[in-house]
Amino acid sequence: MTLAWLDHPSFALHETGAGHPERPGRHDATAQALAEAPFADRVTRYDAPKATREQLERVHDPRYVEHIHVGAPRSGLVQLDADTVMGPHSLDAALHAAGAVVKAVDLVLSAEVSSAFCNVRPPGHHAERTRAMGFCLFANVAVGAAHALEAHGLARVAIIDFDVHHGNGTQDAFEGDERVLFCSSFQHPFYPFSGGDTPPGQIRNVPLPAGTSGAAYRAAVESAWREPLDAFRPELVMFSAGFDGHAEDTIASFALVEDDFAWVTRMVKEVADAHCDGRIVSALEGGYALEALGRSVVAHVGSLIA
Ligand SMILES: [Zn+2]
Repeated sequence: MTLAWLDHPSFALHETGAGHPERPGRHDATAQALAEAPFADRVTRYDAPKATREQLERVHDPRYVEHIHVGAPRSGLVQLDADTVMGPHSLDAALHAAGAVVKAVDLVLSAEVSSAFCNVRPPGHHAERTRAMGFCLFANVAVGAAHALEAHGLARVAIIDFDVHHGNGTQDAFEGDERVLFCSSFQHPFYPFSGGDTPPGQIRNVPLPAGTSGAAYRAAVESAWREPLDAFRPELVMFSAGFDGHAEDTIASFALVEDDFAWVTRMVKEVADAHCDGRIVSALEGGYALEALGRSVVAHVGSLIA
């Protein structure tokens, strides 16, 4: 079966201002890398629809969803927090980004495709129930997971977040919810300064020091995630796929390379193959060194499709 590539023109129009790392060029870099990848003939492109208010309100407070809808400027930029910005196209992009993950869940659960990659921006994993944060407006992957649970009636969804920053928004959405196993690896102490203490239950945080190498990363996540993932027996596996832990990415200080992203993808795919026919939905989070980002997305998606 093929892999679905979810995308939308609005993702390249979401402006964040001069010098901002989460910039429109990220989208062009990933789209070009995917189009030129050796597996491109096994990828089917789908247009991302907008998420509905009902879908967003499964993980966000209705007042917050309204705040983002009315907060979009007609021109110029508005600042939602110290580093999260909205321009005239940002609401559109944010709605299509969350909608991409919802659509990807539908495609994978209907077996139309075996797996899906959502080439979205803005990213989502820092957005909490009631606030925008860290370049993120809506919690894209959490919205998709909630759709799998509520609209498709799934009982167990695993979310793997290998972005270099802790996925505080996803944890905020599902902490205490036994239907979701959330595994997040991240540099610590580092932005957003959460996740250092793993709460009991279905949260498997792996805080790692600055300078973490590929070998150290692999050993840590293998021992922290493999057994809980197998014991959980997920019906769907989702990735918050952030590539800002790459050695060439100066936003953080991990020393990972594209092979490490391919490795974690294969490790998790083995779990998905064993428990849920390889059903995987992945969505782009961070990654700010454009060449490394393109190569890393190809390594990750290539491992999904293999
Ligand atoms: Zn990040």
